[in-house]
Amino acid sequence: MGWDFETDPEFQKKLDWADAFVREEVEPLDLVWPHEQFTQLEGPRREAIQPLKEEVRKQGLWATHLGADLGGQGYGQLKLALLNEILGRSSWAPVVFGCQAPDTGNAEIIAHYGTPDQKAKYLQPLLDGEMFSCYSMTEPHAGADPTMFKTSAVRDGDEWVINGWKFFSSNAKTASFLIVMVVTNPDVTPYKGMSMFLVPADTPGVNIVRNVGLHGEPLNEGSHALIHYDNVRVPADAVLGGEGQAFVIAQTRLGGGRIHHAMRTIGLAQKAIDMMCERALSRETQGSKLSDKQFVQGYIADSYAQLLQFRLMVLYTAWEIDKYNDYKRVRKDIAAVKVMMPTVLHDIAWRAMQVHGALGVTNEMPFLGMITGAAVMGLADGPTEVHQITVARQVLRDYRESDDLWPTQWIPRRLDAAKEKLGQFLEAEVGNL
Ligand SMILES: Cc1cc2nc3c(=O)[nH]c(=O)nc-3n(C[C@H](O)[C@H](O)[C@H](O)COP(=O)(O)OP(=O)(O)OC[C@H]3O[C@@H](n4cnc5c(N)ncnc54)[C@H](O)[C@@H]3O)c2cc1C
Repeated sequence: MGWDFETDPEFQKKLDWADAFVREEVEPLDLVWPHEQFTQLEGPRREAIQPLKEEVRKQGLWATHLGADLGGQGYGQLKLALLNEILGRSSWAPVVFGCQAPDTGNAEIIAHYGTPDQKAKYLQPLLDGEMFSCYSMTEPHAGADPTMFKTSAVRDGDEWVINGWKFFSSNAKTASFLIVMVVTNPDVTPYKGMSMFLVPADTPGVNIVRNVGLHGEPLNEGSHALIHYDNVRVPADAVLGGEGQAFVIAQTRLGGGRIHHAMRTIGLAQKAIDMMCERALSRETQGSKLSDKQFVQGYIADSYAQLLQFRLMVLYTAWEIDKYNDYKRVRKDIAAVKVMMPTVLHDIAWRAMQVHGALGVTNEMPFLGMITGAAVMGLADGPTEVHQITVARQVLRDYRESDDLWPTQWIPRRLDAAKEKLGQFLEAEVGNL
């Protein structure tokens, strides 16, 4: 019997260490440097944060997203899930543990598809935590449908020349390099005519036009760049994984990225439940504590059950990834997790916010940030609807149409069949009456 919901004691010790370390050493960074996670570590920030990274390394918990064969710790996705749900509580924790998006996904595809030179130039510094990267795929006119992308690269001697626009390229302003998805052969299907390029951020022609912010951030001071690639010249060996491979690579990247977001979301939602329960036990109104009110008990019970369902699903999907080592095979469940993620975080954060009354909607509590985060999760790495389509298509594969007017489970026909099968017993039963 192989089913087991227990963490092995040795790894549990590491998780316990991470739990205390994040709470005591990392969460304070979220308060004093709330927006600096993706800027190069310098001055006092380097002094404060570098020793924390060293501690993580000593514990063997650095860059746990990559397998041992790809230069990581080789813990697999299930252990990563257990760790990530701790890291999800803090915006700095993934950086301190060397497993922050989008660098994790970018490192993963370079590890899978990069040449030895590309790995030396980009992967090693990424794994060392000394470089940030950007994944530049979405375009201003098209995101959910990559077959509509227009940014192109044309071969010119030993170089490729990239032209076009990209939108929502997260962290472009601090990245050392960008992975750009472009059309290299417009004459074949986009699934075979697009390629990925590794482009150093200081290449002439990489022009950040605007740094789009999320709700609440000042205009043009956000992290999501509108980029004009204007005659950007890169050498022939800047192609990642070969010409025409972009779609295959994108699936590898996004499969991992989506499940990692889900793992961290568990931690964030748990944090909202923790706050909701503390408040419910601490606040009194109309003669009793909030925790005695049945509506509030309903919020707590629904939140607990919703998160438990989600957590089990994420852990199961992580286990499947470890077992099959093939994102494509686990596509249905990764997509299902991605579909559930925004709703779970939204619902739980919303209830926790409501239980806090007016204080809940202020900038002195984190709930509206979580709710914005939930909205983001319904879009980043593809909108919910597109993932619902994936789930439905994959589910439907296991079914066949019926050529009969009546469904297979139509009771009158099944009853006739059952009577025929059990006829001798029914006759005996009648005879006994
Ligand atoms: C915070 C954040 C960070 C991001 N970071 C990056 C990044 O680093 N790099 C990058 O390249 N991109 C990034 N993105 C972009 C993200 O991948 C796109 O927003 C996403 O793919 C959707 O594209 P779109 O915004 O153009 O929406 P559209 O494609 O215009 O879709 C709009 C809406 O239409 C509906 N819709 C779309 N397709 C379908 C369908 N087939 N069936 C039914 N309804 C549909 C959905 O409701 C969808 O939300 C980021 C987005 C966010 C919010």
